[in-house]
Amino acid sequence: MDAVTAAKYPFLKESARFLKDTGPSLDQLVEGMAYEQARLRGRDRVMEALELGKIDDHPMTSKIDAVLELLSYPVARMVVSAVADPQFVKRYAISEAKKADERLRKEEIPFITNVAEEFGLQVAQEDRGLAVDFADFLRFSATMRNKDWKLVNQRMVRGKVLVTKIRLVRLIQQMLTDKISSELPLEVNETILSTFASDIDEIKRILEEKREQYKAKGMGRLSIVRFPPCMRKLLNMIQSGENVPHTGRFALVAFLHTLGMDSEEILETFSSAPDFDPSKSKYQIDHITGEISGTEYTPPECSTMKSYGICFEPDELCKRIKHPLSYYRKKGRHFRSG
Ligand code: SF4
Repeated sequence: MDAVTAAKYPFLKESARFLKDTGPSLDQLVEGMAYEQARLRGRDRVMEALELGKIDDHPMTSKIDAVLELLSYPVARMVVSAVADPQFVKRYAISEAKKADERLRKEEIPFITNVAEEFGLQVAQEDRGLAVDFADFLRFSATMRNKDWKLVNQRMVRGKVLVTKIRLVRLIQQMLTDKISSELPLEVNETILSTFASDIDEIKRILEEKREQYKAKGMGRLSIVRFPPCMRKLLNMIQSGENVPHTGRFALVAFLHTLGMDSEEILETFSSAPDFDPSKSKYQIDHITGEISGTEYTPPECSTMKSYGICFEPDELCKRIKHPLSYYRKKGRHFRSG
């Protein structure tokens, strides 16, 4: 593998091997004077994920640029690990996966299928195009919200789902998000913590600021501590840019609206998502809150939430209620009484 390919796809096994064979040791990368630029570039990579929700393009016109870009990846992972904030890990993973998606779209099919297979998705070449096992398709497309991804809308051949090149890349994007999210945070030693101390502090400060802004803007009248686990999880997923199935978006918007938030406030609450699209989100929210359809929807009850697979981590109080709104009301009574 050459340096540019390794830099474009630093998460591949072969890129890690390339780095191991030709790059510095961990200590050199963290402390060596010669690697100051790589550390700065790694820090930028993290800040791009934090501020923009995506990794920027950096020119790789020389081998030195490419190596710098490649080294910035392990540095970024160290910094994200040191911050150790689960929501931020997710945002970083999504940012990396989006960049990979953008780059993979420009690659030839054999390269893309190799990447898919490294992540555990077998791709077959059928007469009518590329195909993946339907169980894998279901697993990796579970969070895609567009109805075009529903199994009933797929073309099948011999138990496999036909996919276009772009769709295959999109599945890889999801697999990579899951992979990076599950790998981080890594364990970090004292040297890493002290080298990146000021960056870690700055990132934590920005994260805190973002949370404060969000609380002040969106949730003023509502108490998040009273939210049931399912709604807290859905809110976190939306704000960190994870793909939330349509049923989850619907349930959360209806929940927030029933508790008194108007469309603008809900839109504001969703606006920190890296993939936030104001016009599309506004249309969906206005529909659920009745501003377009004239019908105001209420959130589904727990049994329906369960059947949709969006009853996340139910707790003790969940055993005594049948509806997410009851959870909010009961929790409120509990807080007032003691
Ligand atoms: S039991 Fe109901 S309120 Fe609790 S997490 Fe599941 S859907 Fe939400």
